[in-house]
Amino acid sequence: MRLYTVEKDGKRFVAAGYADCEGLWPVKECFGIDADCMLDLVCCSEKQAQLAKFETKPEGEAPLKLADVTLCAPVPNPVGDVMCLGVNYYAHLVESNKAGHVSLEQKGHTVYFSKRVDEAVPCGGVVPSHRDICDRLDYEVELGVVLGKDAKKVTRENALDCVFGYTIINDISARNIQEEHKQWYFGKSLDGFCPMGPCIVTAAEFGDPKGHALCSIINGELRQNSNTELMMQDVPGLLAELSAGVTLKAGTVIATGTPAGVAMGMNPPKWLQPGDTVECKIEGIGSLINTIGE
Ligand code: MG
Repeated sequence: MRLYTVEKDGKRFVAAGYADCEGLWPVKECFGIDADCMLDLVCCSEKQAQLAKFETKPEGEAPLKLADVTLCAPVPNPVGDVMCLGVNYYAHLVESNKAGHVSLEQKGHTVYFSKRVDEAVPCGGVVPSHRDICDRLDYEVELGVVLGKDAKKVTRENALDCVFGYTIINDISARNIQEEHKQWYFGKSLDGFCPMGPCIVTAAEFGDPKGHALCSIINGELRQNSNTELMMQDVPGLLAELSAGVTLKAGTVIATGTPAGVAMGMNPPKWLQPGDTVECKIEGIGSLINTIGE
């Protein structure tokens, strides 16, 4: 099942969809689940149990069509900062090292940082380029993990029980700000720097987070092209490592790092420009498509 946050007639609500159709079922009206927003659903085990009964498509015609609503990011306002992994694919560690951003010594110890997200940008939305302060704008396709249960001292073996579902995140980055400030928080937290979507695919449908192809395509040109199999720290591993000392609350969104092929790694770098179209694609979820604004 796929879960969308959408707007229609000025009202924002959560609706369920299915891989093989364009229909949408508002969860409150159609499934009787009392959830006003995605976090109401994601943070409540009773509502998740109600939802699980609808994992297969209901019989009959869908009440709404995807084309007739406005898409929002699935979690438009995350509860805290989005937690992020840095250089989690070896080939991206190598290209980041060449660009002077990280030491190869980092291999073996996962890099964690966070990203402030005031309002996540939906699929189809515009990413502001902040040209007054940013002259090196970059893209990063990443598998996003949305927790549906608090994770505290989980093991590798039971870590995935805490996952509600998966989405696509584009960890937009201002490389000049990262360099100037010697850390990543500011350069990755500018308003509009977290496109997310188009939906959350439930953990039951997505299956093992390993083995999903992911890529980014800029103005039709394939740039990043990898597979989640190649993460150095995988999803169970990162949940076990982090939750050994940090309670990860239900509703937490985690961006699991990006593979090689970002603009910073190219010679010469092809920084994002106003008018560019950025498509981030993950097998089993779909495409997150955004344009770069002024
Ligand atoms: Mg990233």
